[in-house]
Amino acid sequence: MRIVIKIGTSTLAYPNGRLNIRHTEELVKTFSDLQNAGHELMIVSSGAIGMGAGKMQIDRPQDMPTKQAAASVGQCELMYTYDRLFTAYNHTVGQILVTREDFNDARRLMNLENTLYRLLQLRVIPIINENDSVATEEIAVGDNDTMGALVAKYMRADLLVLLSDIDGLYTADPHTHPEAELIPEVREITPALEALAGGAGSRLGTGGMATKLMAARLATGAGVDMVIANGADPMALYSIVAGHGPGTRFIGRRK
Ligand code: GLU
Repeated sequence: MRIVIKIGTSTLAYPNGRLNIRHTEELVKTFSDLQNAGHELMIVSSGAIGMGAGKMQIDRPQDMPTKQAAASVGQCELMYTYDRLFTAYNHTVGQILVTREDFNDARRLMNLENTLYRLLQLRVIPIINENDSVATEEIAVGDNDTMGALVAKYMRADLLVLLSDIDGLYTADPHTHPEAELIPEVREITPALEALAGGAGSRLGTGGMATKLMAARLATGAGVDMVIANGADPMALYSIVAGHGPGTRFIGRRK
């Protein structure tokens, strides 16, 4: 299977922006094992801005130049971490930084697809992020949930997994409604479902449930199944890849 896995900042780093070593090591171990089993993995990883801020010991930046500076520092830290951890399992990673323009322009999109396909053929694991150091708001995809869905769509993936700090989509906001129940499967994204998704996100990342539903719309419309699951339990990926829970699975529309 060709699988795109998006990792949110809250999975990779603590709220102060420092690397969550345990989560990240366990994730890379599981990814490496899935790659060994013959799957083709593509990782869309957030964390550049959050980890850059953590490394420079500044608060999460709000203004554009500081965000871009933090991304520049954090992207190094991110790739250094992935490269080191994947190398321990004998896997090679490649960095791909993109902006919205790379998806909107046919020639650039083709170049991006060609590079990604070649990396997959070479059994390299692409690690994709927005090029935050140059992407201003107008030319940014904006959040990596959408980025993950775009990559899954254009690379004709079988599955997109969004790993975050939530277990999936609930019948109400579980932070404020303890009786809220997890929705295991979604076959149609209805307006009622969209109303369930508040705009909230964590302190370090950008994507909340609203961007995840937008990603689900994009992915399922392209025939790709999408799962929202908690990144704190990397072992769950085996079961997700096998077509089971945990999390919320959005069923891709088959053509
Ligand atoms: N590209 C951003 C980063 O690496 C993250 C975007 C997101 O969290 O969706 O910090």
